[in-house]
Amino acid sequence: MGNTAYNVRIIPNLPSLNYTMTETTSTPATVAELSDFSSFNLHSALQEALTKNGFEKPTPVQQRTIPASLTRQNLLVSAKTGSGKTLAFLLPTLHNLLINPNYYAGTRALVLVPTRELAQQIFLQCQQLLDGTALNVGLITGGEDFKKQQNMFRKNTAVIIATPGRILELLTLDTAPFENLETLILDEADRMLDMGFSEDVLTIAKNCNENRQTLLFSATLTHAGVLKMADKVLKKYELIALNTLRDELPHIQQQIVLADDNAHKQQLLAWLLKNETFEKALVFSNSRLQATALCDPLRAAGVRATVLHGDMDQKERQRVMKLFRDGVVNVLVATDLAARGLDIKGIQIVINFEVPRNGINYIHRIGRTGRSDETGVTITLVKHTEWNLMAGIERFLRQSFIRRNIKELAGKFQGPKKLKASGKSVGGKKKIEEKKEKVEKVKVRDRDKKNVGKRRAPTPKVTAE
Ligand code: AMP
Repeated sequence: MGNTAYNVRIIPNLPSLNYTMTETTSTPATVAELSDFSSFNLHSALQEALTKNGFEKPTPVQQRTIPASLTRQNLLVSAKTGSGKTLAFLLPTLHNLLINPNYYAGTRALVLVPTRELAQQIFLQCQQLLDGTALNVGLITGGEDFKKQQNMFRKNTAVIIATPGRILELLTLDTAPFENLETLILDEADRMLDMGFSEDVLTIAKNCNENRQTLLFSATLTHAGVLKMADKVLKKYELIALNTLRDELPHIQQQIVLADDNAHKQQLLAWLLKNETFEKALVFSNSRLQATALCDPLRAAGVRATVLHGDMDQKERQRVMKLFRDGVVNVLVATDLAARGLDIKGIQIVINFEVPRNGINYIHRIGRTGRSDETGVTITLVKHTEWNLMAGIERFLRQSFIRRNIKELAGKFQGPKKLKASGKSVGGKKKIEEKKEKVEKVKVRDRDKKNVGKRRAPTPKVTAE
């Protein structure tokens, strides 16, 4: 699957911090070590500025982000305004510029923000940190002198804090002001998307040095466009999530229903669609084959359902979306890629026929309900082979989903007999791997060996979803 969303590596959680939603495996330093700014070994000018301005202990977002950013990784960070995120991106970025002086490189760091006020605030904080150093910082926003801003590029202004609109205008005059850019920071990306800056930001990013580091900050991960933007601008990145999904989506109830097999799941799905109250429902499947296969029996059972998947051409997709939007059909069976960014009012229930392949896909899916502060329910159907995947997602989100029994269709599978501390089943993986091994043992015959060294026919291209 050629989707970059799967290139995400989750940064391990710090042991005793309560803010994060990722697993504790290994940590670059202990919490005690990180409880002071001095543990980051920042450039002396930055350390002095912190002390002078009374900053003693890093906030959680600073504890998690600074070490990862110092090593020049691409990061997607979910952190709310007021969490200390400005220092979280300024400190490592300025440190990397200060320890490697290059006064003729032009602009080396660019911070894009949604509003002039925020740009001004970050600009002042940046000035404070760079006081007494040879690095200079510039502010570029609308409503200010255009010529003066244009001159900033000529004067090798190392750090620029800006709103996207004016940068875009300047780009039309100067073709390559960011060819040496070392770090691109997108702050409050969710707000930039809400304000319609998506295309501007993408165009600016395309004009930046390809080998730069990119840091994307957003108050939420569940915003329809944030993960999409991360895929496009960051490509490979690490995720640091400071708020739990429960914090982000308190109005969405998340349930799981255990199932014996796919046939049982189909019965559960039909029952739920008949008995739950909703205006519109979205059913997710991991494959287009399964999505198509689910739709016919539902229709036969009198459910007004249709299917949406990546194999359909754009015209057909639009027709289906219109049927769903207008309420001609009220159940849409879809695959992940087809449903990315889908923003339709009135989706009150999301059913995962299969457990999504990872936590990011889970977030994408459940974000389709509970939009514009409506309430929503998500129900994931889980069979025994999917238990560990589900447990991994719960652990990733630091959340325990509500276990729901449907009496009318009670099955045999009630969860694994023994569970590890992680919530995964004891021995589950081993059994599945043994099974796989059995399937994978293929007999090699002599006549097959004769083809060794011969040219193979080209493999047909398989498109994702
Ligand atoms: P921000 O989320 O970056 O807008 O920061 C919110 C406020 O927290 C600002 O007033 C910062 O000056 C302040 N702040 C940021 N980091 C720290 C820290 N480590 N200790 C105390 N205050 C901080």
